[in-house]
Amino acid sequence: MKYDSQKTQFIDFPETETPAVSIGIMIENVLSFFFNDEYIHVETGDFLVGEQRALLVNDKILFNGKLYKELYFEPVSKKASFALKEVTIGKGFHWERKEDQCFNGALDILITETGLLAINEIDVEDYLISVISSEMNATCSKEMLKTHAVISRSWLLAQIEKSRQLAQDHTQHIACYQDSERLIRWYDREDHSLYDVCADDHCQRYQGITKASTARVEEAVRETSGEILAHEEQICDARFSKCCGGVSEEFEHCWEPVHHPYLSAVRDNLTETTLPDLTREEEAEKWIRTTPDAFCHTSDQKILAQILTDYDQETPDFYRWKVEYTQAELSALFNQNMDGLINLGLIRDLVPIKRGTSGRIEELKIIGTCGSIIIGKELEIRRILSSTHLFSSAFVVDRLEVKGGIPGRFVLTGAGWGHGVGLCQIGAAVMSTQGHTYRQILSHYYPGAQIKKRY
Ligand SMILES: [Zn+2]
Ligand SMILES: [Zn+2]
Repeated sequence: MKYDSQKTQFIDFPETETPAVSIGIMIENVLSFFFNDEYIHVETGDFLVGEQRALLVNDKILFNGKLYKELYFEPVSKKASFALKEVTIGKGFHWERKEDQCFNGALDILITETGLLAINEIDVEDYLISVISSEMNATCSKEMLKTHAVISRSWLLAQIEKSRQLAQDHTQHIACYQDSERLIRWYDREDHSLYDVCADDHCQRYQGITKASTARVEEAVRETSGEILAHEEQICDARFSKCCGGVSEEFEHCWEPVHHPYLSAVRDNLTETTLPDLTREEEAEKWIRTTPDAFCHTSDQKILAQILTDYDQETPDFYRWKVEYTQAELSALFNQNMDGLINLGLIRDLVPIKRGTSGRIEELKIIGTCGSIIIGKELEIRRILSSTHLFSSAFVVDRLEVKGGIPGRFVLTGAGWGHGVGLCQIGAAVMSTQGHTYRQILSHYYPGAQIKKRY
């Protein structure tokens, strides 16, 4: 295996066997689970079925009257499944609830500082069927599902290598710089060392076989089996978001300052390919205030239904959008979302300092009557200026009812939905309904990347 320290990924094409993925499901002091079929307890060689319980007692796991450092249960047949009781879904969100969940594959139980950690280990292809079935609408076109299968697989395999590397060298990733004038933060998925991915939205929502998988998803995963996106023998970190807004964003403007050639700016259009320079304020302003033609500029409900869940469909104005705040609302949002870290007084202005290739603001200066601060990157800006999250950080600001330099109202006019890096989901859905294949869609959004068979 060759290791490239600069890009932190192993290069090893191709493998013959389908790899396995380990998914962190839940942490509790007591774990209740149920083997629907025969499982073998690897530490003792016992065959088990039915109700089971593991307890954390004095830094050991108490199971069937004995103490262990770790428990590992392997299914006797490939179809065997187990249920984990009361798994928390949507942690920290308003839909948080507890639900029993069902899984294929092995169950690993580890001791951590906060309790017993339940990890599910399964074949990568089975994992993909599960996550794509729960993430994508059943009406989704086949080419769109195949597109997603390839990018989810690429992301997953890149993530597996990253987390295994993290477990080996214990490096702390820097994702923040802060001084008296600025707070620049980004949020990335690099903090799992005991398993490859978690089961929450932080990575990809995974519920095992709790919900039935869709036959079309199974076909799409099978037909693209082992296929990933690669760039110069590296697995691509294939990002995607809802709507680019007409031009896609570059990786470094949203996350760590590293350039990935396959995540560079793309005009989301095949006939109009000239790239406006949206890092320049005047060009960004003109771009955001108009509605240039793009694949993702659509209001076709049939296409949108492929990508958006029912809840999301209540917000159809994502290509160009508007948000309005009064002075009181905006100052209150700022204070609340900054946790009282700094008091700016009344807000005089929001000034873009740095924009990325899609017009998304990377650094925004917020000027108040008592001081000012520069915040970034895009997700932090979206979080601080909204009670939920702004659609994107590609916006321009109008100050209205200004008295003594202090606006009474602010109007934010914006473009796109999400970080805008990599594949534009709505644009890709439009491309697939226009007859483009998944290979054409992928080569449009990931310039220079190639589809390769990994195993
Ligand atoms: Zn995660
Ligand atoms: Zn787009």
